[in-house]
Amino acid sequence: MHFANWGNFPTVDTLSYNQLSIAELASFIRDNHGFIARGNGRSYGDASLNRNSILNLSKARFNEKGMVYNAADSELIVNSGCALTEVLNNYFPEHVIFPVIPGTKKVSIGGAIAADIHGKDHHINGTLSKHVSCLDILTASGEMITATPDKNSDLFWSTCGGQGLTGIIVSATIKMLKTESSVLRQRVTVCESLDKLINESCQQNNSQYCASWVDLSGTKSHGRGVVFSGRFASAAEVMEQGNQFLEKKYTNSRLSIPCYCTSKLFNQPTVKAFNSLYYYLNKRKNNTFTSINGFFFPLDAVNNWNRLYGRKGFVQYQFVVPQKEVLQKIVNVIKKERLYSTLGVLKIFGKQPKHYGNLSFPMEGYSLAMDFKLNHGLFKTLDYLDEIVSDAGGHVYLAKDSRMKASTFRRMYGKAVDEFLEVKAKYDPNGKFSSMLSKRLKLNVI
Ligand SMILES: Cc1cc2nc3c(=O)[nH]c(=O)nc-3n(C[C@H](O)[C@H](O)[C@H](O)COP(=O)(O)OP(=O)(O)OC[C@H]3O[C@@H](n4cnc5c(N)ncnc54)[C@H](O)[C@@H]3O)c2cc1C
Repeated sequence: MHFANWGNFPTVDTLSYNQLSIAELASFIRDNHGFIARGNGRSYGDASLNRNSILNLSKARFNEKGMVYNAADSELIVNSGCALTEVLNNYFPEHVIFPVIPGTKKVSIGGAIAADIHGKDHHINGTLSKHVSCLDILTASGEMITATPDKNSDLFWSTCGGQGLTGIIVSATIKMLKTESSVLRQRVTVCESLDKLINESCQQNNSQYCASWVDLSGTKSHGRGVVFSGRFASAAEVMEQGNQFLEKKYTNSRLSIPCYCTSKLFNQPTVKAFNSLYYYLNKRKNNTFTSINGFFFPLDAVNNWNRLYGRKGFVQYQFVVPQKEVLQKIVNVIKKERLYSTLGVLKIFGKQPKHYGNLSFPMEGYSLAMDFKLNHGLFKTLDYLDEIVSDAGGHVYLAKDSRMKASTFRRMYGKAVDEFLEVKAKYDPNGKFSSMLSKRLKLNVI
């Protein structure tokens, strides 16, 4: 079968195994070599691709219920194949919310843990691993191992953020958060320059959630943007607003891109026009109430929006650096190289918790995610950006990557790679779990 992840690059023809039971998965693992787990394919690059075989877990339900919530201690026990959408559908109407919410609800829980995802509240809540108390993992011997921050903790911290390379997460116990309502109170602030945008983003980082959109169209408006911050409204605020904000059941998107568009759709004039429209529409907003979909998942409003980039696909480049000057430098390089990005998202990360996944992406500092249509010369410029990020002591996000070089990756993640590889060698000595990403980045075995 033909597979690609969200960026539609790279693509691979491979064998896919679907809906295996735990016993079947264990026996597959014992008898085979060279495979990787796949959730919902919402990583952008090659993290869940393998040329031999893919273990497709997106529909896997290892027990009848799929998920069970224990209200007494706010813990959710959930199968890794369940999607975040299902978790939200089941519990959000009761004001129980997943602790870390990414920019799409279409990820699987296993994929979210394997990427140790961050959300708009990273500065308060850290990455997902902080909220996971237990994982059941099928390792390379076919044995199921329970790992927690205290028991088999080496396996736990290498599996969170480990991109599926330590084993298959079968189920997870996750501490959920409670909210008073299901609507958000949002503040929208437009900023006409990058400097102002960064300052405003830092200031508004005392809100529960905060992230900013950046215009990276390479025009004279390059660097301007909009800060979106907010928090869940209190019950009293919702009452005051009346019926219009009464709890909305979670809806699916109705719009869809039916087929791949021409790759010429995104060029500098169209990107400029889109950015201007978006900027001016937001200029008219101020403090508003909004739904969970509007606040967290605007991109999910259109199914298959990745097809807008055409068949050749695109790359999302997300980095974090400790210094704002380095972020500013990169934004300037993009303009100089005429590498306009269709989408730019700035997030100010807070301090990481004491423990986090060995290969987790975030660190305290300034993160920018950008979408670039694939074209000749793109990788050369991204290699140059990698060098800047690495020299500044920063990271590029593996969940979005499809092209970084092993040597650069080593320099970026340093000691964390050695620690990860030691654990990988202990639980998967023959490198059974492997992906195109792990081969490219030499993350197989020591
Ligand atoms: C529109 C969009 C917005 C996004 N926003 C954010 C964001 O705000 N923050 C953020 O951190 N990320 C974000 N992401 C990235 C996304 O959260 C991660 O890539 C996540 O891993 C995708 O989950 P998936 O189930 O689709 O995994 P896949 O892409 O299928 O797999 C991703 C990795 O998880 C591993 N994996 C999957 N299931 C299992 C399992 N059961 N056991 C072990 N390993 C497994 C795979 O081997 C692979 O290495 C975004 C992605 C998109 C497309």
